[in-house]
Amino acid sequence: MEKKGKLFVISAPSGAGKTTLIGHVLKQFPQLSYSVSHTTRKPRKGEIHGQDYFFIEEDEFQARITRDQWVEWAMVHGNFYGTSKEFVAEKLLEGDSILLDIDVQGAKQIMDAGLGLVSIFILPPSIETLQQRLENRGTDSAAVILQRMENAKGEIDQQSAYDHVVVNDDIIRAIAELCLIFKKEMGRI
Ligand code: 5GP
Repeated sequence: MEKKGKLFVISAPSGAGKTTLIGHVLKQFPQLSYSVSHTTRKPRKGEIHGQDYFFIEEDEFQARITRDQWVEWAMVHGNFYGTSKEFVAEKLLEGDSILLDIDVQGAKQIMDAGLGLVSIFILPPSIETLQQRLENRGTDSAAVILQRMENAKGEIDQQSAYDHVVVNDDIIRAIAELCLIFKKEMGRI
């Protein structure tokens, strides 16, 4: 049978627990390639260049826009984020499936480009829980949390554009639901 990779896109408001969920999916599906994004954001404590993100300067990011090197890119919470066209093209050509963790603006660009994709939106149980999680995380200032909360409301409004919506009310349950989606979609390859 022909080996054909799929493009998975996961979006969620900041603090919805997406990183933890994606970590579990990648562990359960080692054949999935995770697309490490590029960003102009400064690394948080513990983040590793090339693993969490490729941390680049804004002029480099802009140069890559000019050279048409992003599958999609967006300004999120005041920083640029982009997905490498070279990485995605190479993996899909090899027949590998790819997982993109990108925001709603980037997901929309991929949907509009007509690239076949499976899109998943992770919802927090409530806006209050989201704020609580961001505060407990302790990685962002009060101003950044405020900005992320504002953005979250706009992002949550976009959920109907996605193929699947998973509510992260209980982490174990949400992992199971998410993995089932991947199992079904990968099984169709
Ligand atoms: P954080 O800075 O908290 O890691 O991520 C902030 C937001 O940027 C998240 O919603 C994340 O999904 C999004 N993001 C990460 N990489 C990309 C990317 O390559 N493209 C787009 N459009 N968004 C991204």
